[in-house]
Amino acid sequence: MAYFQSSLNQLSMKKLVLAFVGMLTISLGTYAQQKKQPGIPFVKGTAPCSTVDPPKNFLLDTTDLKGGRGLADNFYLWDVGSILYVKIWNGSPQMRQMIQAYAKEWEKYANIKFQFVETGDAHIRVLLDNKGGNNSRIGIQALSVPQDQKTMNLDTTTFKTAAYTYTCIVHEFGHAIGLLHEHSSPISGIKWNKDYVYAELKRTNGWDRDAVDWNLFKTVNQFYTNGTTYDRYSIMHYPIMPGWTTNSYVVNWNNAISEGDKNLMRILYPASGVRSTEVPRLYITKPQEPLTLLNVAKMGVSIFPRFSISSNINTSAFIVAYVYDEFNRPVTYTDATGKSMILCTYQSVNLEGNKNYTVNNGTARDFELFIPQAEILKYVPSGNVKISVQVLVSANNELKNFYVSELKSMVAK
Ligand SMILES: [Zn+2]
Repeated sequence: MAYFQSSLNQLSMKKLVLAFVGMLTISLGTYAQQKKQPGIPFVKGTAPCSTVDPPKNFLLDTTDLKGGRGLADNFYLWDVGSILYVKIWNGSPQMRQMIQAYAKEWEKYANIKFQFVETGDAHIRVLLDNKGGNNSRIGIQALSVPQDQKTMNLDTTTFKTAAYTYTCIVHEFGHAIGLLHEHSSPISGIKWNKDYVYAELKRTNGWDRDAVDWNLFKTVNQFYTNGTTYDRYSIMHYPIMPGWTTNSYVVNWNNAISEGDKNLMRILYPASGVRSTEVPRLYITKPQEPLTLLNVAKMGVSIFPRFSISSNINTSAFIVAYVYDEFNRPVTYTDATGKSMILCTYQSVNLEGNKNYTVNNGTARDFELFIPQAEILKYVPSGNVKISVQVLVSANNELKNFYVSELKSMVAK
């Protein structure tokens, strides 16, 4: 949780341009060496030429909003017809039964099934607690979370009324199948009274500005409306209290799956089994902490990401290692053109659809990211850094993030 909180704080930073150009020759340098290895096919690195916020926060509803609450991120949808294994880690039999029943509300409209299991691996893992707020990973991003970590938190102290409990559970399972917040619609036309909302949510929820920006004010690309109109009745919409907008617009607690939500489900998870709009979606599974080591022979830091990766269609992806300082801040510098850059290195990989690639499984070291020691010491003289590996796809004029490793501490000196 602390990790995600720190990620969230970083979102307030100015957008930083990836340091692709600076590290490009380095990526090419490691290319030849790795090409000998079977497995994941490498290609020459080409810059996505975009901006990205350092580690994307996968969670929405980072803490609970004291109110009841379609957009979907198409890149994070499960395959149509998927059977998703769900494990509820704790809670009374009654509570678990209720969660199962509420989650299954989505099955009425979406061609997707939840299979509740007690043992073995699960796609979605639910922790019930009394402090963590209500939040969930978005769709298939849950796959990149290690099996011993939750992908959804339900804070039962917020379940004060039957209606709110229902709304909250259905809402979080909405995130779990790829839905975003409806108030993030680019066509909502909501005129936020921002200063007032910041103050209110600070007071009622203890949210800082970043949390409010992330959960309320962020709008997404029109693409994610999937052709639907803005739906103020969506269960994925937060309530908008009096005073929160400059034009007296309010939204009540939406305590049911709306007609708009149902329509969206038919678009995203159609009974026919075939989605009309398909985008590259990466399945990152079996994630392990990346290995990092000071490579004396090569005078630099070698980073070995570890996971399995597959995609629904042929696509290319970027496997990136970002450098952070010991205070979890991205190491940045200003390039020759005056742009703020994050120190990182990357490799571009070509993935064949529906083929599974194993990256550095077990003791294998078949995929390496490399940063010269001198590059790091130039910006962090102590050499105390942390490394985060991410997997990105450049699409839809964005860099879509499918995996963020934990920050791995090391001394590059
Ligand atoms: Zn939410």
